[in-house]
Amino acid sequence: MDESILVVNCGSSSLKLALFDKHLQKKASALAEKLGKQDASARISGDQQPVQLPADANYKQALQALIEAFRNRDLLSGEPMAVGHRVVHGGETFREAALISPATISAIRGCADLAPLHNPVNLAGIEAMRALFPTTPQVAVFDTAYHQTLPQRAYRYALPEHCYKDWGIRRYGFHGTSHYFMAQEAARLLNKTPATTSIISAHLGNGCSITAIKDGLSVDTSMGLTPLEGLVMGTRSGDVDPGLFDYLASRGVSADQAHHMLNNDSGLLGLSGQTNDMRSLCELADHGHEPSSLAIDVFCFRLARYLGAMTASLTHLDAVVFTGGIGENSARIRAETIRHMRLMGLELDPELNRHNGKLSDGRINSPDSRFPVLVIPTNEELVIAREAGRMAAI
Ligand code: AMP
Repeated sequence: MDESILVVNCGSSSLKLALFDKHLQKKASALAEKLGKQDASARISGDQQPVQLPADANYKQALQALIEAFRNRDLLSGEPMAVGHRVVHGGETFREAALISPATISAIRGCADLAPLHNPVNLAGIEAMRALFPTTPQVAVFDTAYHQTLPQRAYRYALPEHCYKDWGIRRYGFHGTSHYFMAQEAARLLNKTPATTSIISAHLGNGCSITAIKDGLSVDTSMGLTPLEGLVMGTRSGDVDPGLFDYLASRGVSADQAHHMLNNDSGLLGLSGQTNDMRSLCELADHGHEPSSLAIDVFCFRLARYLGAMTASLTHLDAVVFTGGIGENSARIRAETIRHMRLMGLELDPELNRHNGKLSDGRINSPDSRFPVLVIPTNEELVIAREAGRMAAI
């Protein structure tokens, strides 16, 4: 047996693979894209040469080819010690990571109605890895699990009870692995224990969510039944008036079209009419493109509103934490957001903010700020590797 841990993250037409050693140091990572298409491709990070795939390669073929490529480069020998899988939706069944068994697989399948684009492909990755490594312990780590500590007042919608009881309609929350990592890392940087640390964690990438974490546990979060609720995102609208659906129907927009519009054509892309990429938007705004400036303004204002809303769940606050591609890299977005938070007493140090917290152990607030503000790079793969290693050793 090799002492490596593999982390598998299957998306709707792509997959990411990461290889960790037993000390949880990352040894290699790889990406396969356009799976199921004629021009499916795969590559190990840092390599010039692509990894050869059959045309229309599926998840299993891509995983097989990438693992073979790891072996050819002496990165892996024999079977890994454990495999960790990112799984998007664990419903109310999974409050923590789970060792994969036929029962786990059928429970993940049971949550597929709640995440029809994600859980089936996550399962494709699980089935493929079980076939490739039949004796290796495999572990599912769920995006929703960390939020299973939400109190009812935060997770219930004000809908008739049967919607919850019969159909599971409630707020689940996502990005749980990232918010959990923020809780751990913030505690470490603040010289505290996670169990006594309370933060507001803003994960801002192409998908965005914000979570109130009280004494290490998730107590409120902005995403809901699906990852559409809450903040403005790259192509997702976030919150809209539910009355919108009727109104769109009266204009001849079908449910499918409305779904597509809210998920794929809205958010930063919809407002700017140009791009869902925050870096490009900032450049466009700098060149006087007003819809891009508006998109940034709406994004930051919605985020600030949610920052304020999250304080309703906390009795003290140790830090506001930014992470994700935007949260980690955009001094401008952090500054424009925190500017709305004067009443809460938040203030940034422009120089520390400009360096993304790298000068100061993540800290970007000024000495006068009522609460610390931190930038912490997220590392969901590491959490999945750690969980997989821990559960495989049990
Ligand atoms: P993620 O989904 O976490 O990979 O984040 C992707 C988002 O991060 C995209 O909108 C990128 O434009 C954004 N991003 C990455 N670097 C920067 C940067 N330096 N300034 C602004 N946005 C950035």
